[in-house]
Amino acid sequence: MKIIYSDRQQLHCVPFEVLGGEPTPNFEQPQRALQVLDALSVRTSGPVLPPSAHGLAPLKRVHSPDYVDFLADAWNQWQATFPGKAVALPFLFPNRGLRQRLPRHIEGRLGYYAFDLSVGLTATSWSAIQDSADCALTAADLLLAGECSAFALCRPPGHHAGRDLMGGYCYLNNAAIAAQYLLDQGQQRIAILDLDYHHGNGTQSIFYERSDVLFASIHGDPDDEYPHYLGFADETGAGEGVGFNLNLPLPLGETDWSRYRQALDSAIERIQAFAPDTLVISLGLDTFCEDPLGEFSIKSLDYLEMGRILGGMGLPTLFVFEGGYAVDALGNNTANVVEGFEQKG
Ligand SMILES: [Zn+2]
Repeated sequence: MKIIYSDRQQLHCVPFEVLGGEPTPNFEQPQRALQVLDALSVRTSGPVLPPSAHGLAPLKRVHSPDYVDFLADAWNQWQATFPGKAVALPFLFPNRGLRQRLPRHIEGRLGYYAFDLSVGLTATSWSAIQDSADCALTAADLLLAGECSAFALCRPPGHHAGRDLMGGYCYLNNAAIAAQYLLDQGQQRIAILDLDYHHGNGTQSIFYERSDVLFASIHGDPDDEYPHYLGFADETGAGEGVGFNLNLPLPLGETDWSRYRQALDSAIERIQAFAPDTLVISLGLDTFCEDPLGEFSIKSLDYLEMGRILGGMGLPTLFVFEGGYAVDALGNNTANVVEGFEQKG
């Protein structure tokens, strides 16, 4: 399986975030991607290829044009207003009772386009964000050219990013961009299976009223887990999209592989019935038992079986890398999924 990766993705490095009411070293660190790259290079068939530039047009098929233009220029606006301040960070949001109006000042613009505090931007973030999306698009090109699978080693991740919203370490929704691109290139139906521990609220919201993209997600119950305000089982789609959104929230602290596998079987059954041209897998490894941001108890060897099950679906498959913060185990766990997939796929 070819792996798409760009070194420029290392350029996004926000030193801190706010967790539990305190400034904390950022869990979404560049080292994550290097660990995965090393493990995939050694353990899977490879090779590792750089992304090709696709420009802004495919991004604007999923995100609003004003949001993409904002991301590309946000650092310049920040620097002009706050010279010498290394991280552009939102800190207020147009919540209930406030107007949904894009203000002129950068601090108002950051809040308008964000839903949490995890999405800082530095001088070099945009290069990494754009290359991350290009990794997904380049992997999609491989599938269009007839490859049966590809792995987009995206960083920063994407599945929390909505049409005009960043949050949860995510800026551009790499999986959604790839899915829309495949449709625009002539495919008819895309299934997105989101296996990150957190609900893919951005992906769901982007395709919620669509019947050409099936979104299925297995994740920690949002009553008790981030992103809290989306991801419940009764969200099944709207308008033309009714029946094309499947949320399978699972309880924190009680979800081991056997329980997870039952949910995975349900998702796979729905995906097989949908008969997609391509399966896009938002692959987050924060379901791991030692993940600092997760409360599931999936073990390293379970990921081998997960990969075999995913490969056994027999669908053209595009892996898009999402979360996973137990850095020392992240490479091994990711490689287990891909190795299992290649054994069965
Ligand atoms: Zn996650």
